[in-house]
Amino acid sequence: MIRDNVFQVKENIAHAARRAGRNPNDITLVSVTKNAAVDAIKEAIDAGITDIGENRVQDAIIKYNAIRYTQYERRVKWHLIGHLQTNKAKDAVKIFDIIHSIDSVRLAEAVNKAAEKIDKIQDILIEVNVSGEESKFGIAPENISRLIFEAANFKNIKICGLMTMAPFADDAEKSRPYFRELREFRDKVNWRAGAPVLSMGMSQDYEVAIEEGSNMVRIGRAIFGP
Ligand SMILES: *Cc1c(COP(=O)(O)O)cnc(C)c1O
Repeated sequence: MIRDNVFQVKENIAHAARRAGRNPNDITLVSVTKNAAVDAIKEAIDAGITDIGENRVQDAIIKYNAIRYTQYERRVKWHLIGHLQTNKAKDAVKIFDIIHSIDSVRLAEAVNKAAEKIDKIQDILIEVNVSGEESKFGIAPENISRLIFEAANFKNIKICGLMTMAPFADDAEKSRPYFRELREFRDKVNWRAGAPVLSMGMSQDYEVAIEEGSNMVRIGRAIFGP
């Protein structure tokens, strides 16, 4: 089941990429395991999943430890996709390869400090609240440049790109304007190194997100079921 789902999602990603004239290999599939047990995660890794996304640091530590020292350990990267509290930064930098949810200078500073302590350069994304919904985490788009500017002195974080979540909708097309907007904000930033990451698109709307420029999709239900 999981294997079939992974293949199906990858095929859909490839089709969406081709529709947009892009290379499917440029799109990272992050498999979101917040509702998946360790056995299911291993099954996904066996089916070719290379990137795992977790929402909560505490849950991720348990799963990380269950996979550590097994044949699966070296085959995956860990992504923190949920909100991070400053007091969890110390734990987060120990296990996550990339943190998608940096949305304030204060949090960037806490992650920088924690990363410095373990002598690591922590990859991060800036979470942007494109829709402006009050219930959502993320900075307002007009503050992206300021956050990047103020974080420039933090030597132990590397800002790799932007992340967003579209408002919940039953129709993927409704997400399109938000994804387009994030891509436009991405294009306005002068990224110093490498091609910037654009983390957007979930089970419900990843194909639309890819058409709009996403190069990192975060998918849970379409792989592990509802
Ligand atoms: C849960 C979650 C996802 C995956 O959502 P699905 O609908 O299960 O694909 C992606 N991103 C974030 C931030 C999430 O919390």
